Amino acid sequence: HAKIGGRAQTRFFDQSMTRDLVRRREIEDELRLAIQRDELSIFFQPIVDLETGKIRTFEALVRWFHPVKGELRPDEFIPVAEESGVIVTLGNWITAQAARVCAQWPEDVTVAVNLSPLQIRAPGAALGIRNALREAKLDPHRLELEVTESLFIEDNHATAAFIEELAAEGVRFALDDFGTGYSSLGYINNFPFKKIKVDRSFVSGPNVGKKSEAIIRAVAEMGTQLGMEIVAEGLETIDQVQAVREAGCTLGQGYHFSRAVPDYLAAMLLAEEREGPDGLRKTA
Ligand code: C2E
Ligand code: MG
Ligand code: MG
Ligand code: MG
Repeated sequence: HAKIGGRAQTRFFDQSMTRDLVRRREIEDELRLAIQRDELSIFFQPIVDLETGKIRTFEALVRWFHPVKGELRPDEFIPVAEESGVIVTLGNWITAQAARVCAQWPEDVTVAVNLSPLQIRAPGAALGIRNALREAKLDPHRLELEVTESLFIEDNHATAAFIEELAAEGVRFALDDFGTGYSSLGYINNFPFKKIKVDRSFVSGPNVGKKSEAIIRAVAEMGTQLGMEIVAEGLETIDQVQAVREAGCTLGQGYHFSRAVPDYLAAMLLAEEREGPDGLRKTA
């Protein structure tokens, strides 16, 4: 009967695997058309100065509103885009959109765009970024590119050239999800990062405590010494905000401040902050 159980188990796996593969395949096919069909949009989540409470940056986060499947999260379709190569077209479109929206904001507000390692390793990657900046007439200083530690698993010449060239032109780089990958200090030493984003698993969830707090403190200390800013991700409560501030983080992001919102709401948040009742009263 071990054999029967084995067979049943195989059949179970076959079914769920087939279902996953079918969905993946559908997503892959439909993703190619999604841009043309206007199903994708970029949402913007504020990154806030923990000292002043003012918005310094918006992180661009892609959303796919599928007519049948509903809202798809990037965690589901970005990996498919990477596997199928669509990520290059998709990534360039995202950067171009984000740059265009940022160009409408006050000049001291920047935009952060996530880049996939595959996008960076593709030929002409830097050109895609430059085109986006040129078309939006956006100062390179106002664009931040977020990369994760997984980018550095492969010691790739193209990666190093991409970062060094664009950084020399004024584009800023941030190390995203810090602490979840290899967290080697080598690439912090080798690449000109302006920011480290401490992963939200250090801020909330089952592994948060004295230890994670000490780690944030140490990362913040190191970052400050190196002239980098430390962003705490995933801040959902005022207690978490206070804890990371106290640990030395200067910037924060999370649902406590705001979720990612459409561009018109991002503009409203900025307007409220600058010309809201308080601002008007001060100048009146
Ligand atoms: P990420 O770059 O680390 O982005 C932060 C993610 O955390 C976002 O999820 C955001 O909505 C979520 N988040 C923000 N604050 C909180 C909070 O307080 N609590 C919780 N639980 N979550 C919070 P999202 O938008 O689903 O994106 C997931 C990941 O997908 C991103 O992680 C990024 O790696 C990737 N991604 C998103 N947009 C793009 C894109 O345009 N291009 C590429 N290549 N990757 C993208
Ligand atoms: Mg990010
Ligand atoms: Mg992150
Ligand atoms: Mg993340």
